[in-house]
Amino acid sequence: MNSRLSIDAIKELASTTGIDLNIKTSTNDGIFGIKCWFKEFSLREGPVFILRAEGLYRHSLEIQFGMLARPIINQINRASIAQIQRSTDFLKLIEKHEFSIEHSLLDTESLSELALGCSAFKATKLKVSDHLSEHSFCESFEKIVKPAIYAVAELIGYEEFEPNAEILDGEMEGALTLKLVKQRERSRRNRYLCLEYQGAICGICGFDPKIVYGEAGGIIEIHHKQPVSLLNVEKVFDPKKDLIPLCPSCHRAVHTKRPIPWTPEELRQKLELKNGN
Ligand SMILES: [Zn+2]
Ligand SMILES: [Zn+2]
Repeated sequence: MNSRLSIDAIKELASTTGIDLNIKTSTNDGIFGIKCWFKEFSLREGPVFILRAEGLYRHSLEIQFGMLARPIINQINRASIAQIQRSTDFLKLIEKHEFSIEHSLLDTESLSELALGCSAFKATKLKVSDHLSEHSFCESFEKIVKPAIYAVAELIGYEEFEPNAEILDGEMEGALTLKLVKQRERSRRNRYLCLEYQGAICGICGFDPKIVYGEAGGIIEIHHKQPVSLLNVEKVFDPKKDLIPLCPSCHRAVHTKRPIPWTPEELRQKLELKNGN
């Protein structure tokens, strides 16, 4: 009956997270869903993210912790302020996407439940149209499972695997701090937060690739605004403010000045001058 969902579509989405994940469909008491967990832990160790289609039109996400519950709580309790802030940002996105959170990872109460092997997080969205379809599962994966995985990854200090290295190769050789800029520009988690908060349109020229290229419009890149000379590893870094989405042309253009790129404001002024003439 559930043949409408292709697990391949979800696996494809999972591969864009920057985190190695296992994905499995699950049917429990006639309730259909997908289970997803970090590749280096077993299903019994957890944490396991379970997205379910419930009732006539609901989707819910639960995060369950298994045998590793205790070490994970300890890890979460040791999380830095920056990690908790980032994690909170991701959890806020879940609510922005109209999922109401019943209990959250960051409540101490939920954490004490976690020790008992119960669900440490639950969020539900009502009125999901065609809630058994592949399309709706993919959409919920993108809007709730992804940020939930990122929130947990932040809390437990889970590092991403090497993100795409193609965009900035060859540019700005030299200074070591540039490595950090590149990492931040390429990080999938940073990208997700930046695009969700600022939108997938160019922050300089306003170009919206989705309007021009439709489905093929996922070409917006992420640029690190902070001048390299001021970049400090210790400073709390906020991908909502310190990064800006740019179209590939504007991104190239800001990096024509090296090692410190043009600021978005400087480039915007150049554009305005040109268009004004
Ligand atoms: Zn642009
Ligand atoms: Zn850049």
